[in-house]
This record gives sequence, structure tokens and C-alpha cells, in this order.
Amino acid sequence: MLKRILSMLTLTAVILVATPGLAADYLGNTRSMKFHRYSCSTIKHHDAPHFVSFNTRDEAIAAGYVPCKRCNP
Ligand SMILES: [Zn+2]
Repeated sequence: MLKRILSMLTLTAVILVATPGLAADYLGNTRSMKFHRYSCSTIKHHDAPHFVSFNTRDEAIAAGYVPCKRCNP
């Protein structure tokens, strides 16, 4: 199972690198300073102006965001 997730993540990373501008895996909310999985149920409008995108959770943490408690990214 873990192997499968890892290979999916690798594939996603390859796709993201190959096609810049594609939707990122994580979204940071500049109002709450929390970051979410793209699929988080608390996100209604993924293109809202107060969201910034991150390709990795490390990027989000480095930018000062904390993980959402709902989607636990
Ligand atoms: Zn969330």
C-alpha cells in the first residue's frame, strides 16, 4: 500500500515538474495560515485569491503554514 502511494506521489511529482501551472497538491490559506490537501473538504473555491499553492508539504511548512486538522496534510 505504501509503495503504491509512493509511486503515485512520484508520478504526480513528475507530472508537476513536466507541466508547470498544473494544480498543486497543497493549498495554503493566507488568511488562516493553514495549508490543506487540494482535496480538503473545507476548501470550496480552489482558485480563491487567498489560496497559494505548494507542491510539497515541506514547502508549505517552510513558508510558515501549519497543517489543517481536517485533512491532516
Ligand atoms: Zn484541510
